[in-house]
This record gives sequence, structure tokens and C-alpha cells, in this order.
Amino acid sequence: MGGVGEPGGGPGPREGPARLGAPLPTFHWEQIRPHNLPGDMWLVIERRVYDISRWAQRHPGGSRLIGHHGAEDATDAFHAFHQDLNFVRKFLQPLLIGELAPEEPSQDGPRNAQLAEDFRALRQAAKDMKLFEAKPTFFALLLGHILAMEAQSWYLQHDLGHTSVFRKSRWNHLAQQFVMGQLKGFSAHWWNFRHFQHHAKPNIFYKDPDVTLAPVFLLGESSVEYGRKKRRYLPYNHQHLYFFLIGPPLLTLVNFEVENLAYMLVCMQWRDFLWAASFYSRFFLSYLPFYSVSGALLLFVAVRVLESHWFVWITQMNHIPKEIGHEKHRDWASSQLAATCNVESSLFIDWLSGHLNFQIEHHLFPTMPRHNYHRVAPLVKALCAKHGLIYEVKPFLTALVDIVGSLKKSGNVWLEAYLQQ
Ligand SMILES: [Zn+2]
Repeated sequence: MGGVGEPGGGPGPREGPARLGAPLPTFHWEQIRPHNLPGDMWLVIERRVYDISRWAQRHPGGSRLIGHHGAEDATDAFHAFHQDLNFVRKFLQPLLIGELAPEEPSQDGPRNAQLAEDFRALRQAAKDMKLFEAKPTFFALLLGHILAMEAQSWYLQHDLGHTSVFRKSRWNHLAQQFVMGQLKGFSAHWWNFRHFQHHAKPNIFYKDPDVTLAPVFLLGESSVEYGRKKRRYLPYNHQHLYFFLIGPPLLTLVNFEVENLAYMLVCMQWRDFLWAASFYSRFFLSYLPFYSVSGALLLFVAVRVLESHWFVWITQMNHIPKEIGHEKHRDWASSQLAATCNVESSLFIDWLSGHLNFQIEHHLFPTMPRHNYHRVAPLVKALCAKHGLIYEVKPFLTALVDIVGSLKKSGNVWLEAYLQQ
């Protein structure tokens, strides 16, 4: 705590700001009390009297805030609000006009001096216990928690696209538009347009947009085709490496942004356009005042890149390592099972992947609410066993590694076919 009751500096009388080395004029509370008006304001901090009449306008916390303590002892407020007291004291020095007369109490009015003293001792004890020092890990975890919730909104809009949460589909779709538009900045119609094609024909070229990635990535049957036709737009034998550069970091930032804008304009989805605009307005109105244009843009890019990583790994782990190729006109159950695998369930993985670890069940029954997948899973497993169909379940990390593995494998298949005479 500050030097309560400590005497003023050295010698030297006069009006106006105190000069260094001069003895300070002394004041009584009744002399201080009238100076509590805007334009004529004094403050007492650690028994020193400051004239803040003009400086109040420049107070970083605002003139209104500092004005609330006009003609008062503001020592405790001064300590409570300022982190670097030595830095702030530099600004106070030129405003010093005197000190409290030795016989005056440190505080004016009906204040409990003992309480004030005890409180300052308590604050000092807290300081000694380093209680004012922040733990960065705590706030990093908090940020992680917020980002995880951001990811959960993707799942929620996905749920609303598939499942009738509300009895009236109009409400369901409105809720999806809100989550996808206002919380994510994308178009709900675009999502459904794209995602239902994926569900109708998973892992089928030109029908499932998620695997129609040539000529950027070659998956499944396209690798051997490109190799035989001697097509080499990119070094496909290294696609498992450039995947890390353009896949996870850029999907939502570049691919989704461009696709969404094009979709909303071409299909004239003006309502979705307004929802997305509401996301951008909220985002930039919130952050521009703090971070300026470049800072807010940087934050936006960082958020998208983070979300993109999560999106790619979670959504691809169930499909990329499975069979990918041209239409084979199979029945519903066989075609869905050939293109999907599950990831082992646990409370954490269910939460992290939004129950998409039950991808087989999700694909067989897209409208089933995801909290019921674990209940239908044994029935699906039994059906598979009866008909000799593969019901594949793997650990989470294996599923992630398999994405890279299958890209590498397809790349090698391409190279082999490409080099063959
Ligand atoms: Zn789905």
C-alpha cells in the first residue's frame, strides 16, 4: 500500500504545481471539499493533493470516472484500478499542489479509518501472496473452451439440417439459419445443398462434393486414372504433405468462403446473405474498436484457420480412408457402409466429434437425433454380422493417421501408374 500519512516532499511554498525540492503547501479538508466540479477538481491520493481540473479530460479511464472521486481521498480507488502504480505516478507528479495538513485525517467524512487501514493490509497480504499475478494457462484453457464451443455450433447446425428438433420444419430451418448464419457466417442452404449430396452418395465422384477433389487431391480410383492418362497437375506423390498446407488450414477460410458467396449470389439466397452479413457486422463491430482493421482481420483469419483444422480432421476421418470411386449403384445400406467407418466412443470423443464418431449410424439414418446413435449401434452391428458387411471401428488417433496414410497411398498409386509405359 502507499505511504499513508507520510509527510510531503522538501521545502518551498507557492500556488500551482509543486516544484521539485520545494516544501509543499498544506491543506485542510474544508479547503479541498469545494473543488469537486468539472473544471475545478482536486483529488487526494496518499495524503497528497492533486489539481486534476484540466488533466481529468486526458484521464485514460475517462473524465467521468475520475470525476466521481472529486475532492475525496481516492487512494484506494487509485490502487484498485491501476496495475503499474509507478508508471501512473509519473502522470500525477506535475499535478501535485500540496499535501494534507499533518493534523488532518487521511480521509474526509464519515469513513471508518480502521476498516480502511485493515483493508489496505489485506490488499498488501494478497499482493504478497502473488494473488494479482495471472496464470496464463487458466486463460489459455478458457480460450480453448470458447473455441470448443465454437466448434459445437457447427454440430448444432448440422443437427438442425438433418433432424427435426422442432416439430415445425420452418422453426428448425430458422434455427439452423441462425446458428450457421449468425454464429458461423455461412449459408444454411449452401450447407444442406452440399451436405445432402454427400449423404446421398458418399465417396462417389461427381455426386459427393467432399471427395470430388481432383485435380488438387487424388483419392481412390481417380489416382490410377490420372496416372494412366499421364496427368500431373501437382506432385500427387507428395499430396499427403501439401495436404497440411492447403487442407486443414484453408478449408473454411478460403474454400467455404468462396463457395458460400458464390452460392448465395447465384442462387439468390438473400436471407442467408443477411444472416451471414449479421455475423460479419457483429464480428467487426466487436473487434475493430480494439484491434483496428488489420488486427481484426488477423483475428478473423486465425479463428477460421483454427476452426478449419478441427473441421477437416473430424469430418474426414470417417470417409477418406474408405472406398472412393465412381457410382456402383449399390443398395442404401451397402453403399453407406462401404464409405463410412466409426471411431471408438467415449464421453470425450462423443463430445469432441459431435457424435460423428458414430458415422455409420449417422449415414444409415441421417434424420436420427445423434443422442440415439449409441442405442441403434448394436442393431446395426448385428445386421452387418448377419450379411457379412464390414462394420469398422477404430481408435481416434488411428482414424486421424489413416487420413494421411490414404492420401499417401493414393499418391503412390498415381506415381506408379504415371511412370508405367
Ligand atoms: Zn451429416
